[in-house]
Amino acid sequence: MTDLATMISVDEALEYILKHFKPLEPEEVEILEALDRVLAEDVYSNMDIPPFANSAMDGYAVRAADTAEASRENPVTLRVIADVAAGYTTETRVEPGTTIRIMTGAPLPEGADTVIRVEDTSDWIRSRHERGREPSTEVKVYHAAEPREHVRPAGEDIHRGALILSRGTIMRSQEIGVLASLGKTTVSVIRRPRVAILATGDELLTIDEPVTPGKIRNSNEYSNAALVRRYGGIPVRLGIARDNVEDLTAKINEGLAQNVDLFLTSAGVSVGDYDVVKDVLNTEGEMRFWQVRMKPGKPLAFGLIRGVPLIGLPGNPVSSMVSFEQFVRPAMLVMESKTRLAKPAVEAILEEDVTNSGRRGFVRVMVDKRDGQYYAHTTGKQGSGVLTSMVKANGLAVIPEGVKLVKAGEKVTVQMLDWPESVE
Ligand code: AMP
Ligand code: MG
Repeated sequence: MTDLATMISVDEALEYILKHFKPLEPEEVEILEALDRVLAEDVYSNMDIPPFANSAMDGYAVRAADTAEASRENPVTLRVIADVAAGYTTETRVEPGTTIRIMTGAPLPEGADTVIRVEDTSDWIRSRHERGREPSTEVKVYHAAEPREHVRPAGEDIHRGALILSRGTIMRSQEIGVLASLGKTTVSVIRRPRVAILATGDELLTIDEPVTPGKIRNSNEYSNAALVRRYGGIPVRLGIARDNVEDLTAKINEGLAQNVDLFLTSAGVSVGDYDVVKDVLNTEGEMRFWQVRMKPGKPLAFGLIRGVPLIGLPGNPVSSMVSFEQFVRPAMLVMESKTRLAKPAVEAILEEDVTNSGRRGFVRVMVDKRDGQYYAHTTGKQGSGVLTSMVKANGLAVIPEGVKLVKAGEKVTVQMLDWPESVE
C-alpha cells in the first residue's frame, strides 16, 4: 500500500518504525568482543579481588606498634629481615623490631599489619643519595603508622559472591577489565544486528569504475555500511541493483537469504521515480511509502519483507545519512537492547540566520565551545547532494516544524554527529 499522498512527521514515522523492532537474542563472545554491546547476564564474583591483602606502596611492612614512638627527630630502627616483590610470597614473619622490605602489590607478610612508605624511611634518602651501596640490613622509620596504612585488604575491590555487573549494562573498557580480573574469558551479550545494504539505480557505478556520461559512483553503500558499523551492526553489502524488476528481485532475495535483521535500500522511493523499486518492494513485501516532513530527506519507505523490516532511504547522499541517523540508528539500538535512543544533543547559539522550509530542518553545522557556551555555524551549501558539507559538520541543527527562520543569536538544538571529541 502507498501513503505517498500523506506527509507524516518525523516523530510519527519513527514511532511507527520502532514498533517493529525488539532486542535480539544473546550470544557468547570473547570479552573483548563485548565492547559497546549490552550485557545479557548478571555477573557475580567467585572470588575476592584483590585475593590477598597487599601493599599499596613501595616501602616496609612493619608492626604498627613498633613505630608508635617514631618521628623525624626520633626515628625507630628496625632490622630488615627479608624482601618481597609483587608476584612473590615470603615465609618470613615480621617479629617485633624487624621489618620486611615490600613492593607495591606484594602480599603483606605474616606478622605485619601496616606499611611504611619508603619516603618515610632512611631508605628514601639512601636510594636518592647513595645509589649503588649494598642494601642495608637496618632501616630508620620516621613515621608513627596506624594499623593498615597503605594496605589494600583482600576483597577491597570485589567481594566473593557479589553482583558485579548487571544485565543491561553497556560494556565499556572498565567492565571488560573487571571480567578479565575475574578470569572470565567469554561473556553473554546481545548479538549485533545484521543489516543488508542495497543501492538501487541505473546511474550507479561501483567505486572503482571510471566515471562515464550520466553516471555517478555508489557512495551511499559506503556511508550506510560505515554507519551500520558505527552503530554496532554488521553490514551485509549487496552492491547495486539496476532499476528493473528482475535485478531488484534477485538482489532482495540474495539479501534475505543471509539472515538479515534489517534491510536497507537506497533511492527509488521518491514521487518522481520510475515505479520499479516501489513496485518490487510492494510485490515482495508489505510496504508504506511516505513523505516525511523533514529536510533533507523527504522520501522514506518502511515495511516488512518476508518478516524482515525494510527501510527505504532516499537516494541523495546527505538525505540518506540524515534519514539513517533519524530512523535506522534508533531501530538498530533497539535491536541491540540499548535504551537511550535520542542522539546526544546540545543547545547552541546560532551564529547566522538560517531559513527553513517549514518541514523539520536538519542543518549541517559546526559546533564549538567558547566560554562554556556552544556556538553553531553552518558548513556551507545545504543541498542534499553536497556530502562535503556533512564532512565539515559535527552536528545537525534541528529546526522545528513550522519555523521558517531562526535568527543569529537564537538557540537551537544540535544533534551531535560526533561527540564530545570535536566540541572541546
Ligand atoms: P532517487 O532517490 O532515486 O530519486 O535519487 C536521488 C539522488 O540520489 C539522485 O541524484 C541519485 O543519482 C542519487 N543517488 C541515488 N543512489 C545513490 C547512491 N547509491 N550513491 C550516491 N548517490 C545516489
Ligand atoms: Mg533513482
